[in-house]
Amino acid sequence: MCGIVGYTGPRVAYPVIINVLKRLEYRGYDSTGVALLGKDLKVYKKKGRVADLEEAIVGQDVHAHTGIGHTRWATHGEPSDRNAHPHSSATGKLAMIHNGIIENYTQLKKELVRKGYEFKSDTDTEVLLNFIEDIKENNQCSLEEAVRVALKRVVGAYVILLVDRDEPDTIIAARKGSPLVIGIGKGEHFLGSDASPMLEYTKEVVYVNDYELAIIKPEELVLKNLGNEKITPYVQKLDLELAAIEKGGYEHFMLKEIFEQPQTIYDCLRGRLDAVEGTITMAGVQNYIGQLTNANRILIVACGTSWHAGLLAEYIFEELCRTPVEVEYASEFRYRNPVIHPGDVIIAISQSGETADTLVAIEKAKEQGAIIFGVVNVVGSSIARLSHSGAYTHAGPEIGVASTKAFTAQLVVLTMIALKVAMEKGTITRERFMHLLNELHEIPAKTEIVLQQSEKIKELAEKYKDARDFLYLGRGYNFPIALEGALKLKEISYIHAEGYPAAEMKHGPIALVDESLPVVFVATKDSYHEKIVSNIQEIKARKGKVIAVITEGDETIKGMADDVIEVPEADEIVAPMLSTIPMQLLAYYIGVAKQLDVDKPRNLAKSVTVE
Ligand code: GLU
Repeated sequence: MCGIVGYTGPRVAYPVIINVLKRLEYRGYDSTGVALLGKDLKVYKKKGRVADLEEAIVGQDVHAHTGIGHTRWATHGEPSDRNAHPHSSATGKLAMIHNGIIENYTQLKKELVRKGYEFKSDTDTEVLLNFIEDIKENNQCSLEEAVRVALKRVVGAYVILLVDRDEPDTIIAARKGSPLVIGIGKGEHFLGSDASPMLEYTKEVVYVNDYELAIIKPEELVLKNLGNEKITPYVQKLDLELAAIEKGGYEHFMLKEIFEQPQTIYDCLRGRLDAVEGTITMAGVQNYIGQLTNANRILIVACGTSWHAGLLAEYIFEELCRTPVEVEYASEFRYRNPVIHPGDVIIAISQSGETADTLVAIEKAKEQGAIIFGVVNVVGSSIARLSHSGAYTHAGPEIGVASTKAFTAQLVVLTMIALKVAMEKGTITRERFMHLLNELHEIPAKTEIVLQQSEKIKELAEKYKDARDFLYLGRGYNFPIALEGALKLKEISYIHAEGYPAAEMKHGPIALVDESLPVVFVATKDSYHEKIVSNIQEIKARKGKVIAVITEGDETIKGMADDVIEVPEADEIVAPMLSTIPMQLLAYYIGVAKQLDVDKPRNLAKSVTVE
């Protein structure tokens, strides 16, 4: 996780670094720090947010033209000033920032302690830094050479940026397993863990690959592998506008992103779905259509919210394509000894395309001969590059830590893939295909209608904000939405919430029900509607408070529930794209009512690049 930034060029580095760090704060916000390389090397760091650092260094010399900056998501050692990055080496000549985990740091630390090194922090980062310095001093070599030698001994994942007091204007960077992008300007270079924050400076970027090392000066970018061979940088153009990464008048990114959904869903469908002609155009699917239609089974690998999208995709693929589907938590899958058969297709879902566990899971499956199909949001990300084929979700940059628009875009993409495969396999009729295309086509407009309920949901948030626990229940296609609703509430409001299949609640969670427990039912009209009506009765009989998300005009549930939120009628396969939005708004408004920082909830980070 963590955000890393670097700059070298004619500008004063500090304001550039602070600006980019603020845009990267969604990646981690335990502490902030900068190292500025001018006549000498200065390190400023502070527990807390970027604004805390800015306040702390008012009046200091920040005029250097080269520098690196970091926002931390602590893995080794509590969030504190001394554990904040950049770390300084024992001699004070080097400073380094790091994103990731050095797994063999205890071993390396023991070796260094034996040599007399003392450590000022609890981090794995400081160990790696002194390990590099030790090599540099002993071998009397350049920093670049020392980094290369050191990294051959390192186990783990990292992006590191280093500056050396004796090498003016130069940043050394290396990566394995965590993201690193270099922005190319005129006589200047930018570095970041994500391309979008560099947008206001440049649109030309180079994505650094694993086991590559970059030597960056204002006028020069040299890329090498760890064997010291030069690599020609592949420069790509960013297709993004600055407005996409700003709040645009909304109080929080999360609210902006919830309200963007009619547009993001439309963007996701645009150029792909033609409801009049009855076609879905997706080159990534078409190129692998044989493998997708002939797959004996599909494995979906994901984490968090993306896992919920995967779970819903399981229901949809099995229904439409009649292909067996298994949905796996990437973190579990990668450490099992999973059985992969020839012909298995793995769909990897990740907003950032950098999720560490998902990345390693697909690397392993790829080694065993699986076809990897990526469903990711961030163009050019590691998962996108590692996949054989894939489909982007085109939701635009998602900055709010709790995923909203990326989730609905994932649902749209996965549904389109299922429809295309089903049509090719002949497992659905043309009539049903056309019907579902129309249903998808109408989703952006229906999403607008759901969003018109935001004031009502705000009132519900006020009413229920003091509850200690929440239960979220749904059946069939709405079960993953219940899980996602509970996750959103936990993330944003810190209220304990459990998502459960509505019928399964009788096997345990019903014991929690009393007059103080709000139970959110995702109960839009579907094939099992009367079953969920009975489940609502069961909760009411035990005095639970029922908040139900229902299809417009559902008088039966209206008559039973304490509160209802109505969404437009839609086919049960696409209805979750609508029913999830009230859950997002409820979590958001409860978080706001509790005066919490909904864009940066405690302990979380957006892009989970550590396992
Ligand atoms: N492992 C390092 C630390 O705990 C880096 C964590 C990060 O990626 O922010 O400080």
